[in-house]
Amino acid sequence: MSSAPAASLPYSEDGDLNCFRGTAFHTKMSDSYIIGVDVGGTKVAAGLVSPSGKISHQHQIPMVATDASAGLAAVTTVIRAVRTATELDPALPGSIGGIGICAPGPLDPRQGIVINPPNLPGWRNFPLAVEVGNAFDMPVRIDNDGNAAALAEAMWGVGRGCRNVFYATIGTGIGTGLVLDGRIYHGRTGAAAEGGHMTIDYHGPRCGCGKLGCIEVLASGPAIAKRASEKIKLGRNSTIVQERSIPGSSITSEMVGRAFAEGDVVAREVLEETAMFLAIWLGNIVDLLEPDVMVIGGGVAGMLQPFLGQISDQIPSWSVNSRCREIPLLPAHYGVEAGIAGAAALCRQ
Ligand SMILES: [Zn+2]
Repeated sequence: MSSAPAASLPYSEDGDLNCFRGTAFHTKMSDSYIIGVDVGGTKVAAGLVSPSGKISHQHQIPMVATDASAGLAAVTTVIRAVRTATELDPALPGSIGGIGICAPGPLDPRQGIVINPPNLPGWRNFPLAVEVGNAFDMPVRIDNDGNAAALAEAMWGVGRGCRNVFYATIGTGIGTGLVLDGRIYHGRTGAAAEGGHMTIDYHGPRCGCGKLGCIEVLASGPAIAKRASEKIKLGRNSTIVQERSIPGSSITSEMVGRAFAEGDVVAREVLEETAMFLAIWLGNIVDLLEPDVMVIGGGVAGMLQPFLGQISDQIPSWSVNSRCREIPLLPAHYGVEAGIAGAAALCRQ
């Protein structure tokens, strides 16, 4: 009798994240300050994050996305700027406990490797955590921005005290993060929590990922702008067109938001449709995960805030969970600083 080959385990069985520096690192850093770094395609921002999640001493510089070593230099430059500012501030502790970095995925959080993000073409299988760890002789942890922001909300934000947190950032795309039992859920290879690419309408438009009708292609900022634009092309009368500073320029989700605030009917329709798409999506999330709280952040979150009650009211139509009304749907605590806070939270997990 031959036995089946054992399933391969890509990572250590205890599921612990590796940590990257010259020496082993085991403490939780629970009472130390951390430098949180938010790496994006066009900029890299960093700040000092206190044990209670307060951010200070922020710096930001342009990111060099097309070259590996210049990109790394941008990251180390902004970290150095925060460290120097901290050292010069007599009110702050002299030493920093670690560096957390959030970067666009796909990446491998356990090995600390940035794999092949579309908006950072200079980094291909780039060992970011090891490189930064070597530069500063400090523990370094990395993860993608959705996971990191979810952890920050669970640790210090509106999900504080909750064991299971579902987080969505709605902006130019839709990213998600999942904290289960207080820890980021990564899945088998670290590629879990791509909730923005769950299809909710297979007759829907094609998403940038190649699939049809993902929630991202229906409810992100560009999707809101596109649906408003389509209604106006059909001859609907709307003040959205007057929001354009340059006549004839493209409609943006910000214009839809401003028109809604001024009472525009088409803008309201577009945002109500968006709320319905999100209710369908979140109903599925509730049925799969039944989290303690669902948190909405990102650049479009402010515009959707007047609709959160409406979304909550519609979720029971799209969920079999008889107690789904008990799950709060809340605006995120962290706004543009979610990346810095989330990066630092990685070091406290
Ligand atoms: Zn997609």
